[in-house]
Amino acid sequence: MKKIAVVGAGTMGSGIAHTFSQHGYSVQLIDNQIQALDAAMVSIDKNLQRQQKKGLLDQGSAAEILKRIKTMNVLEAGVQNADLVVEAIVEDFDAKAAIFEHLDIFCPSNCILASNTSSISIGKMAACTKRPDKVIGMHFMNPVPVMPLVEIISGIKTSAETINIIKAISESIGKSALLVKDYPGFIANRILMPMINEAIISLNEGVSGVETIDKIMKLGMAHPMGPLELADYIGLDVCLSILKVLHQGFGSSKYAPCPLLVNMVNSGSIGVKSGEGFYRYIPGTKEKVVSERFKSKL
Ligand code: NAD
Repeated sequence: MKKIAVVGAGTMGSGIAHTFSQHGYSVQLIDNQIQALDAAMVSIDKNLQRQQKKGLLDQGSAAEILKRIKTMNVLEAGVQNADLVVEAIVEDFDAKAAIFEHLDIFCPSNCILASNTSSISIGKMAACTKRPDKVIGMHFMNPVPVMPLVEIISGIKTSAETINIIKAISESIGKSALLVKDYPGFIANRILMPMINEAIISLNEGVSGVETIDKIMKLGMAHPMGPLELADYIGLDVCLSILKVLHQGFGSSKYAPCPLLVNMVNSGSIGVKSGEGFYRYIPGTKEKVVSERFKSKL
């Protein structure tokens, strides 16, 4: 496997492209928004410079890594020679289904189709193709160049050969590949999202304020980030989509998204990528302050 195509150049797609290229693969990064492709290349460049400053990359290698990533806004042209496609578009089944149908037509017949979905059934996406044995979940963690895990999800029809190839390729880019079954939210988000939702419910009920909730989980449970801070970082839109899949998939009210989360997403306050969520982010800096609307609370 040499040629990787990544579809979706947002938070995750840019990190996935960066990581594959850093390990010597040629990467075609595809998005239907040219602005998203431009923003992805700026963000990859910034992250490579940071790695170089920290001594994690050899001098000069950042430029080589950047050069191995080509951008493209036409799916057909971008995937026609791919050995592996990693889909990382929005967390919406209909959008992903349309991409998988097209990938099945445009990609070489031996190409493996992986999805970075956080929660959507791999089997359902595989059913949109004529190669369900070659469809698999490759759930990277954010930020991709830093986090050591890839949660591998095998659909009912995913072949053992596909699983072995994907495990090996994940290890070749420095990740630990852990295999799970195709269940709503898999393991990572089945456990993480109810915690984030519960933090939002606690805030909504006035049990405590944004900073206190986050500090309790950081100081008390040794979590590197509080749940509200983490939700902002993941994207509140992504969190809401995952909770909807869990709610529908298990049919249990324990996964019902908090109305405050729904309201925030509807109003466009979706966290770091929109500049505001539970915190407001100061452009061009790493600083953040509690969002105005939550300041008066505890
Ligand atoms: P994002 O909103 O940052 O990026 C999505 C990108 O997909 C955008 O650039 C958009 O232009 C592009 N896109 C949408 N429809 C497209 C199409 N039809 N063709 C081509 N490009 C299209 O989203 P993200 O946070 O990067 O999430 C992407 C996927 O990764 C989702 O499935 C999400 O659940 C999953 N994921 C997210 C995180 C996280 O922390 N954000 C972590 C793990 C997995």
